[in-house]
Amino acid sequence: MKLLEEKIKTDGKIFPGDILKIDNFLNHQIDVNLMLEMGKEFARLYKDEKITKILTIESSGIAIAVVTSQFLNNIPVVFGKKTAAANMGSNVYSSKVYSYTRQREFLVTVSSDYLTSDDKVLIIDDFLANGQALNALLDICKQANSEVVGCGIAVEKAYQAGGKLIRDMGVRVESLAKVSSMTDNSITFTN
Ligand code: 5GP
Repeated sequence: MKLLEEKIKTDGKIFPGDILKIDNFLNHQIDVNLMLEMGKEFARLYKDEKITKILTIESSGIAIAVVTSQFLNNIPVVFGKKTAAANMGSNVYSSKVYSYTRQREFLVTVSSDYLTSDDKVLIIDDFLANGQALNALLDICKQANSEVVGCGIAVEKAYQAGGKLIRDMGVRVESLAKVSSMTDNSITFTN
């Protein structure tokens, strides 16, 4: 998606540890117009699937998932919680994630009330690096016996292992911007 690539090129900042910072339009401050275009594009890519639920992980995935839902008949958005509250009850699905950016392990948790064997799920996230976050969300869908129609990713760092890992599992992955390389002064993209 050209619009997103251009925005990454002008506003993206590269940090140690191979981190692309896009805080000023996606991860901290949100460019709503760009977000709407991203949602529209995910909806176009998955329009033929009879999706009943969008699953994402807090926090940055939520905004992308919500705008996508608006172009897919306002289907419910469920987000995996990173800190399970006591009031979630004991009927939960959870899976371990090793956080790429925080470099520590955490549990992602979803109440069994909101994901069932009747669901056809589109998984949305902001970044795909090594595939840990997606893998956990896929695991949660498996525990719920939900069908996964595919994943929608804003930014895939295509030179990292996650894209291949998840696609090799037979899961459809659509990424709006695929970064093929990042150096201090240039970011390149691939199709
Ligand atoms: P993975 O689980 O695929 O290794 O990493 C994906 C998760 O780590 C995303 O949910 C995102 O929060 C975070 N992440 C990975 N790489 C980057 C990056 O370059 N920039 C930012 N802002 N987040 C990243």
